[in-house]
Amino acid sequence: MSISEQLLKLKSELPQHVKLIAVSKTHPVSVIMEAYNAGHKIFGENRVQELISKYNEMPKDIEWHLIGHLQTNKVKYILPFVSLIHSVDSLKLLSVINKEAQKCNRVVNCLLQVYIASEETKYGLSADELHELLQSSELEQMQNIRICGMMGMATFTDNMEQVRMEFRFLKNLFNEVKQNYFNNHHWFKELSMGMSSDYRIAIEEGSTMVRIGSNIFGHRSYT
Ligand SMILES: *Cc1c(COP(=O)(O)O)cnc(C)c1O
Repeated sequence: MSISEQLLKLKSELPQHVKLIAVSKTHPVSVIMEAYNAGHKIFGENRVQELISKYNEMPKDIEWHLIGHLQTNKVKYILPFVSLIHSVDSLKLLSVINKEAQKCNRVVNCLLQVYIASEETKYGLSADELHELLQSSELEQMQNIRICGMMGMATFTDNMEQVRMEFRFLKNLFNEVKQNYFNNHHWFKELSMGMSSDYRIAIEEGSTMVRIGSNIFGHRSYT
């Protein structure tokens, strides 16, 4: 199947309330344009440099999401245009985003990334760190960020029961956080979970945003 066929098939499968982030990392602009021309306007990248160069080259009505780890010294490069940062994992990072957003006169949408996998390699806050961050008085002062929800990545495994339990854990934590910190904030509603191999389970467990790469663009080769 072509990229546009894959994309339309996938979109027809997703429930109305679930947003598709087409993960275009490693793929060239010409390939991403196939998805764009099929009507898709939301793309996710995990590296700042790659995100910037694609932003510069591609149509300006694209919503760009950063889904990978973000270093504080790189925030300023993406702040003028990024739509949603999925990977906020510290108060320090939030405060830098807030400061740079102020300079651009923007309010920048962020998700808090939570560590739910049983792998050392993944980033994210623990449940304790998450609560600590949300209780900090510094956070209240940040007028140029908007925390729209949470994100997590399940363990890379064939054990789909484990994956389901990890997503369920994140959904429960999301509900708790919503109730305790964002009860009157209608914008706190996004739960970014699910990739090519596990998005169906993620949706069953309450995902509102799936980040899908290989199922649309095929396998990535890192050269
Ligand atoms: C690469 C990546 C994805 C997409 O992975 P696929 O398995 O290709 O769908 C989703 N989320 C994050 C954070 C990624 O880095």
